[in-house]
Amino acid sequence: MKDEPAIVKELRQAEELGLLKSDLQGNLSIRDNNIIGTIDINRDITKIKKSDEKYKHLFDNAMDPIVIIDKKGKFVDVNEQVIKLFEYDKKELIGKDFTKINILTQASIKKAQDNFLKRMKGENVPPYEIEVITKNGKIIPTELNASIIYECNEVNGDLIILRDLRERYKSKKIEKELNTYEQKFRDIFEGTSDLLLYIEKGIILDVNNALINMLNIKKQDVVGKKISILKNFFSQEDIEKHTNAIELAATGSYVTDYETELTTNKGVRYEFLFSVDCIYNDENIKGILLRGKDITQRHHEWKELIKLEEKYRVLAETSADGVITIDPLGRLTYVNPSFEKMLDKHKSQILATLLRNYLSEDSVYLFQQIFIDARKEDKKIENVELELVHTNGQKVPIEVNIASFKKDGEFAGMVLTIRDITERRKIEDELKKSDKLKTEFMNIAAHELKSPVTPIKGYLDLIISDKDTNEKIKNWAKISLRNSERLLKLVNDILDVSRLDTDTMRFDMEKISVVDILDEVAEDMKPAVEGKVLKLITDIPRDLPDITGDKCRLAQVLKNLLVNALKFTDNGSISIIAKQKKDHILISVTDSGIGISNDELKKIFNKFYQVYTGDNRKNEGTGLGLFICRNIIQKHNGKIWAESQVGKGSTFYIEIPYLHKMKVNLKK
Ligand code: ADP
Repeated sequence: MKDEPAIVKELRQAEELGLLKSDLQGNLSIRDNNIIGTIDINRDITKIKKSDEKYKHLFDNAMDPIVIIDKKGKFVDVNEQVIKLFEYDKKELIGKDFTKINILTQASIKKAQDNFLKRMKGENVPPYEIEVITKNGKIIPTELNASIIYECNEVNGDLIILRDLRERYKSKKIEKELNTYEQKFRDIFEGTSDLLLYIEKGIILDVNNALINMLNIKKQDVVGKKISILKNFFSQEDIEKHTNAIELAATGSYVTDYETELTTNKGVRYEFLFSVDCIYNDENIKGILLRGKDITQRHHEWKELIKLEEKYRVLAETSADGVITIDPLGRLTYVNPSFEKMLDKHKSQILATLLRNYLSEDSVYLFQQIFIDARKEDKKIENVELELVHTNGQKVPIEVNIASFKKDGEFAGMVLTIRDITERRKIEDELKKSDKLKTEFMNIAAHELKSPVTPIKGYLDLIISDKDTNEKIKNWAKISLRNSERLLKLVNDILDVSRLDTDTMRFDMEKISVVDILDEVAEDMKPAVEGKVLKLITDIPRDLPDITGDKCRLAQVLKNLLVNALKFTDNGSISIIAKQKKDHILISVTDSGIGISNDELKKIFNKFYQVYTGDNRKNEGTGLGLFICRNIIQKHNGKIWAESQVGKGSTFYIEIPYLHKMKVNLKK
């Protein structure tokens, strides 16, 4: 009754007051003191007398759709709301049988007919639901409230008031959804492993299963009681923590999480972290939700972590090197005392600032690159040289090791260890200086030595070739000549090394034939090899491509390899083999000599390195030959290396890129 349309209310009130009358002529009228409206049901229901303004107003402006149907079920009149609801024009409805024009679903037509019959029998039919089909085919749930119109005690028609139920449905749906939400919240409340207590005005109104199970109590033991009911499980101090938190939260103040210790009735101890949330009703605090999280395990881990962290902290704090951490944005999150000293700044001045602020301009770019690399590849980067800028503006050379670290699997920052290398730089500079002096000295000394050796050699040659010289003196002269040649080789080697050190060795690069060089060197070495009763094997293809290089220098390398082979081989053979590969020529010099151990192999190309062979062979060399060879080959963009087996012999390989023949496309 409470939601009845205004017109029904009006009509009902009029009826109750005896003002609603249907006279013998079929006029339905509402009377106040005056007649305010009359409908001539008998002849033309729609015809409203001029004086029935109020009724017409009520009918047309009613909030609800109103339909008047005659006793055969045909539309007699409809108001504006009906037009809106059905989407039909007035003239499309008037005079039509409501069962024939598809404006109600079949079930609704049947329902309307049945209910009409019931009402005819005098039964009271409360408003019921039907489904209206609009012109556009929409189905609208609608409430139907009808009353029979009598004329002269005979049924003449039906006054039907409809109500679009969509809004109500919508709110019903929302209500349903709200209920499911509530259910969901309930599920969470009961499903969580956290302990939950809902409190209003200091009284526990609800607790969840987790709490009941943990404390092994019944809900009714605690509901309706104050929090102090839990005193068997919490210490007095912790109960106070709870009470204070509840009281504080009720005033709307922010309550920080607090830790408590919970002891079950079996004596098991847990550590719980409690947080407090307010439940609001409109703007007001309705209740308070206490949530307890079991942190026993986490607490244990924390303690371990703190212990571990403490260890590292002590290490970092006492380290002579600077130790810092930066966050993913490059801001300092930790600095140790050594780093403070390096900058001469207190940590309070530098923490949370960008590390790049303290790097020299040149270092910033390099550092950014490294930072990105270390982050991307999650790798450690070591021995990067950068420059810090001291508070006094002076640049401090540093060597940095960088490693990224993660937190929960996510990149969380970097740890940097920083070493002040000012002193080392000074020493390095000194060394460089003294190295330069040494090279200069060697250069001068070698030149000075070379000048007298050349005439000595000349005179010795003369003595040997002079037919008047007796054999004894000739022999002495030969020994002297061999030694002066060795001296000359030594001097030349020293000069070469000093040229290499100062990068002043001259290379006359030109297009040269490898075949020619190999042939010449083999030819030169032949007598010496054969003199030692060794076999000289050569395999030099005639069609080897040309290379760009310095003929003399390459011959020097090959000679050095062959002289070594000869020196360290007493029987067997020495072979020179050349092969054309994809883009280089591979030359190998193999001997069947004493061989070189793996350990020594790594070092023989170093300056002054000689393998200890136990005999006096080493006295004949300088240990500079292979060093010079490697440098010469490198200048030719090539590679030199050796393979060997002790007691079986060695092979020295040289790889030199060759010139590709130009392909000329001749266009016809
Ligand atoms: P050296 O002038 O003393 O020969 P090198 O630099 O040419 O100096 O060679 C360095 C050392 O490498 C030699 O002293 C020798 O011990 C070792 N070595 C070089 N070639 C051979 C080889 N074919 N067989 C064995 N040992 C070799």
